[in-house]
Amino acid sequence: MKHSFFIALLLVTFLAHCQNSESKPNDSINSKSMKFNKLTLEEEAVILKKATERPYSGKYYKFDQKGTYHCKQCGAALYKSDSKFDAHCGWPSFDDEIAGAVARKTDADGSRTEILCANCGGHLGHVFEGERFTDKNTRHCVNSVSLTFTPADMPAQTDTAIFASGCFWGTEYWFKKQNGVISTTVGYIGGRTDKPTYEQVCNKTTGHAEAVQVVYNPTVIDFETLAKLYFETHDPTQLNRQGPDIGDQYRSEIFYTSETQKTVAEKLIKELETKGLKVVTRVTKATEFFRAEEYHQDYYEKVGKKPYCHVYTKRF
Ligand SMILES: [Zn+2]
Repeated sequence: MKHSFFIALLLVTFLAHCQNSESKPNDSINSKSMKFNKLTLEEEAVILKKATERPYSGKYYKFDQKGTYHCKQCGAALYKSDSKFDAHCGWPSFDDEIAGAVARKTDADGSRTEILCANCGGHLGHVFEGERFTDKNTRHCVNSVSLTFTPADMPAQTDTAIFASGCFWGTEYWFKKQNGVISTTVGYIGGRTDKPTYEQVCNKTTGHAEAVQVVYNPTVIDFETLAKLYFETHDPTQLNRQGPDIGDQYRSEIFYTSETQKTVAEKLIKELETKGLKVVTRVTKATEFFRAEEYHQDYYEKVGKKPYCHVYTKRF
């Protein structure tokens, strides 16, 4: 059984590879900046080479425990069990993702929409709209092989936070150094356009903010500690600028991925206000996070310098 599954998988991989010979697996990913889990050959075929597992074969197809589904490759939280439903299609189906966790891309076949882990770029499957399975009218059709499951009664291994505080090079510099932070990615969020480029964001035509997606282990560092660091490494009273960087792409904004993060962010803002700071930081539900161009990732690490615009100031 296992053997025939693997042969089928290899065949699908081969076909997918032929259709897709121009795109390298994970071509947008700087693997140096992330600590990835080691993948089996089956997992590599799906996650890196975009193969599809055989229908009805995956371990999460008929599976209804309460908990969270994470990316097999990087551990980022992708889907809650509350959004899982049975579409009788042979693959695990979800009608919603955890905010900001899943990226969409037109498939190599030109008609379907591929879904990828927004953090590491690992292939998940495809998303379909308008089938009317549930009220959300959306079906994320995901390979079990791309996922790993954490039961609700076990502490989550990873969580994601997204912070905008001016030039994303400087924001990333501080979060990257924290113990408990698994990975950081600079990118764009909160605007009106898909897959913005740096040039478009600079020209202020997109509405996106420069931001950093932080994947962390909440048993080592919690959101409150990260959010305090955020408020202490930029000036949250400057509207649409940080020092010499002027424009709404440099705005101060927390893009929360859970109601708990929202509550903590609002509590910290109140605390700063009681200390006399006129905080302009916005607190907004995360939408899709778009990874920025490679030369922006780990910028200060690459150039061996320190940020000009993000200086630590104790505020709590
Ligand atoms: Zn991932």
